[in-house]
Amino acid sequence: MRRSRLTGAMALCVAMVSWPLAARQAAPAPKAMPSPAAEHHDRQPQDIFRVKPLSGNVYALYGRGGNIGFFVGPDAVLVIDSQFKDIAPGIVEQIKKVSDKPIKFLLNTHHHGDHVGGNEVFRQFAMIVAHDNVRKRMLTSPADIQRDYPAMLEAAKKAGNEQNVKALSDMIEWAKKVKVEEIPAPVMTFDSELRIHMGDETIQVWHLPPAHTDGDSVVYFEKAKVLHMGDDFFNKVVPFIDVKSGGSVKGYLLALDKVIAKVPADATIIPGHGEVTDVAGLKAFRQYIADVLDAAQKAKAAGKSKEDFLKDVDLPAYRDFNGYKDRFKANAGSAYDEAAR
Ligand SMILES: [Zn+2]
Repeated sequence: MRRSRLTGAMALCVAMVSWPLAARQAAPAPKAMPSPAAEHHDRQPQDIFRVKPLSGNVYALYGRGGNIGFFVGPDAVLVIDSQFKDIAPGIVEQIKKVSDKPIKFLLNTHHHGDHVGGNEVFRQFAMIVAHDNVRKRMLTSPADIQRDYPAMLEAAKKAGNEQNVKALSDMIEWAKKVKVEEIPAPVMTFDSELRIHMGDETIQVWHLPPAHTDGDSVVYFEKAKVLHMGDDFFNKVVPFIDVKSGGSVKGYLLALDKVIAKVPADATIIPGHGEVTDVAGLKAFRQYIADVLDAAQKAKAAGKSKEDFLKDVDLPAYRDFNGYKDRFKANAGSAYDEAAR
């Protein structure tokens, strides 16, 4: 497969925002990683997959993009998120090692490329299900790319980054040519809640207030007591908050509180990025969001400009979160924008 790679922070940003990039091209340049823990985007191809059995026939599958969850029912398998197109066949292979039952459902937690990039592979045999806005955002992505990418392309040209120039040019070309029916968007969508029944398991899908994007859903396996949070939860990783796609820092708090109130204290939790954890892990992430908002709120109330706030803002307790250097200030800036005067 032709490999066209984006580099650095841009790679993360573009791969997260734009599903077609993930669908059409290999992932961002792999870097040496000390452990496969937090940032799966950068994992080496030979070390892509790790399957972790959880309770009640639910599994987590770590790969290179957003964490996958899957459930083996009596007659079929349900999968949550599809990562990237180039590794989707490998994902299917890993699932087949656990069960030879047909993969009948694919749930997408949101529209980002590292969660839906493999849809093109899965749609050949599975019903793809997601919130209304996931479909909407995937279908409007060619127009969004044609609107936003030319400026990014110019910036890449100025910076002399040939790899990014090539990748962005390819994307713009793709956006001009693609037909709507070629986009592997969800074919079954819902607006607030959905339940799927497989054997004695009930799979609850809840759309949450705008947090990571405006199309976020989380998936709860009632009997197994396992919750897949999509990117509404980055475990020990500084989140990307996609304000352009309707995300919100305040919304993150609302979304997290809603989930924390709904699930039992002994639930197992699969985050969108980072390791599987428990409710205490989820609450620690909620605290990070609360602390960012609090810092922004105090600065704004004290009459500090956004520029001055961003110059000195630092939350030392979270410096060891993966991506602190790359994304913390962006989170703080969004929090400042949302804070009341
Ligand atoms: Zn995402």
